[in-house]
Amino acid sequence: MIPDYHMHLRNGRGEIAHDTRSVDPFVEAAQATGVDEICFTEHVYYFKQTRSLWSIPYQSERCVYDLEPYVQAVVDARTRGLPVKLGLEVDYVAGREEETRALLAPYPWDYLLGSVHYVDGLAVDGEPRLLDAVGVKEAWRRYFERLEAAARSGLFDSLSHPDLVKIFGERTEFDYGPVADTIAESGVAVEVSTAGLRKPVGEMYPHPELLAACRERDVPVTLASDAHSPDLVGRDFDRAVRLLQSAGYETVTIFEQRLARQEPLG
Ligand SMILES: [Zn+2]
Ligand SMILES: [Zn+2]
Repeated sequence: MIPDYHMHLRNGRGEIAHDTRSVDPFVEAAQATGVDEICFTEHVYYFKQTRSLWSIPYQSERCVYDLEPYVQAVVDARTRGLPVKLGLEVDYVAGREEETRALLAPYPWDYLLGSVHYVDGLAVDGEPRLLDAVGVKEAWRRYFERLEAAARSGLFDSLSHPDLVKIFGERTEFDYGPVADTIAESGVAVEVSTAGLRKPVGEMYPHPELLAACRERDVPVTLASDAHSPDLVGRDFDRAVRLLQSAGYETVTIFEQRLARQEPLG
């Protein structure tokens, strides 16, 4: 089984298109590249039902779409027999866990992906950069502290791009052991994402040392391209599978109505 559990539903012009027609090119691209099942994970902050969570302009400015058509687009595709799952990429907002849970509760999610894109109002992968504000060492400390809180929140099935803070290629020595301990204790999976290969850092998320620490603790994994267009579905998955196998992983996690099961990888 080769799943791709992280992508954003767009039309042929790269625009947000939460309609079931726009699902088909993603499914066709998946089939062409040997991906058996895909899960759409649109950014949570696009949806006006979640507006009360956002204070950062990047998120509140984008918070204009209705959740219902998005949910319906994917559910319709599933009803047509396509191998698609309904998910969401959810920014973890510290202190707003119960509100986040309540806002998302009415919808039939298969899978919720937890992300840390902002820490203390500063961007991990955008502007204004957390790295510039506090320096590399402190940025890493704060980012992973927030990632651990996201894990402990119990809101998520998997953690996206788990070491996103390395995106610009600026790094520091870091002991991943405590992070992996928290992830293992919380029962959440971690995502192996090829998106980092297309960023300045030029490597997958997470770093092999973090993945090894997760493997030692029996943390389950999911597979992800973070595609924002069909041509990126399953991109570089041969490398992701090799990374997983070299870390000792033989299975990958599939979700259905937020229940996890393991399938043989490959
Ligand atoms: Zn993300
Ligand atoms: Zn994403």
